[in-house]
Amino acid sequence: MTAQDDKWVSADLAHSWHPFTDQELWEGEEPVVIQRGKGAWLFDTKGRRYLDANSSIWTNIHGHSHPTIVSAIQKQAAALCHSSYLGLANDKASELAQKLCGFFPGILTRCFFSDDGSTALEVAFKMSLQWRQQNGHPERTGIIAFENAYHGDTLGAASVGGVSRFIKGYGESGLQVYRVGTLADLQSLPEVVIETASAIVIEPIVQGVNQMRLWPIGMLAELRTWSSQNDIHLILDEVMTGFGRTGTMFACQKEDVTPDFLCLAKGLTGGTMPLAATLTTGGIYEGFKGPGRTFYYGHSYTGNALGCAAALASLSLFETENTLAEVERKGHFLEASLGNLPGILEIRRVGLVLGFDIEGCGQTFCRDLREKGVLTRPILNTVVLMPPLSINDEELGFLINAVTSILKR
Ligand SMILES: *Cc1c(COP(=O)(O)O)cnc(C)c1O
Repeated sequence: MTAQDDKWVSADLAHSWHPFTDQELWEGEEPVVIQRGKGAWLFDTKGRRYLDANSSIWTNIHGHSHPTIVSAIQKQAAALCHSSYLGLANDKASELAQKLCGFFPGILTRCFFSDDGSTALEVAFKMSLQWRQQNGHPERTGIIAFENAYHGDTLGAASVGGVSRFIKGYGESGLQVYRVGTLADLQSLPEVVIETASAIVIEPIVQGVNQMRLWPIGMLAELRTWSSQNDIHLILDEVMTGFGRTGTMFACQKEDVTPDFLCLAKGLTGGTMPLAATLTTGGIYEGFKGPGRTFYYGHSYTGNALGCAAALASLSLFETENTLAEVERKGHFLEASLGNLPGILEIRRVGLVLGFDIEGCGQTFCRDLREKGVLTRPILNTVVLMPPLSINDEELGFLINAVTSILKR
């Protein structure tokens, strides 16, 4: 151990507080201190390398420090790092808003920037609710959400989430939420709930934090029909599924669905900078024009130029590297390679989003994986594999070998 390494470890143990972490356990062992990334790999201060098998908690798309994104950030930093989006525009944010709306021409025509997945959801909830207040439906104050859903950790987003261990203590202190388990449950909702609901929110195609559980095929399209029929806004949380993770640019494209609000974050910048966007329709936008109807929401770093430059570079890579073309093949290869292994109870996969249930403890399994040079995190007894979309076959082989060797023990 070098003296410097000691310094970082001791500074962390003395002063840092990590997310979703039992600090008592954390303090009981020496943390891995990451210092560098290249492609699908992360390197720690001791020079050990690890395959980033969960894309740094579901954010990375094209690999770490991709030269195209790095140079876009460098160029942007030299020109402008940040200027307020309040009362001012900036060139990169203008371009990015146009580019994102361009995926849903004529329907999602407005883009509201924020910083994280949670804030992208907060924006959608607040927009939906405020729109009702000032557009003739003040009685519509509820949000319908799904059981075991995850929509972020800020107070409002957490109150809509349905993962009990995450919302214990403050799940009650937020929005007015009606929870349903399946599409069928919607049919038995009391009329009063349907008539007073402003929006329904869902993670389309797959619920990530709910151990990578896929919705039945066709469900999203049916939900779109139901929400339109009942005049309820459809909010899609594509914070995890967006930007190619499921094989299409956005998961909603699998069922030809366009929502009223589309929430994007994690992969928006290719996993390089915190940036989020909430896309919405012209109809919602128009309902905020005029005196007393302003949407009072924003953050200091809204429309951050560095983040927008990174996002534009990431989106350009989808074209120049044809990123989406290989996602399904790689995902299928991964699934097929794990398919017959003993000790795996079930595999759930879409695109390059894969979760497999094991008999033992997910935490221990991922600890063993780390010893083999693979980083990921479990969700209960589900091991998540969600590598950068740019992962190559050799790296997939490394990942499969690591998993196999642990299962065989
Ligand atoms: C990660 C995630 C969020 C929250 O995003 P943050 O950037 O962590 O705030 C919300 N919804 C889904 C589906 C997510 O996966």
